[in-house]
Amino acid sequence: MSTSQGDKFEYPPIPEASGGETRIQCPFCFKALGRKELEAGDDYWKHHSLRLALKVFR
Ligand SMILES: [Zn+2]
Repeated sequence: MSTSQGDKFEYPPIPEASGGETRIQCPFCFKALGRKELEAGDDYWKHHSLRLALKVFR
């Protein structure tokens, strides 16, 4: 019974909008994300990047 690893997932930093952009392009999947959603809290970005990670590592 070894200790399991990989419990911790490091979220990439939230992309920042430049100027008056209302949409922010995700640096990883190049989708346009709503700036409001991104700035409303971490959850939106976490869900997004977690989905990306699952896709990438599968
Ligand atoms: Zn993305």
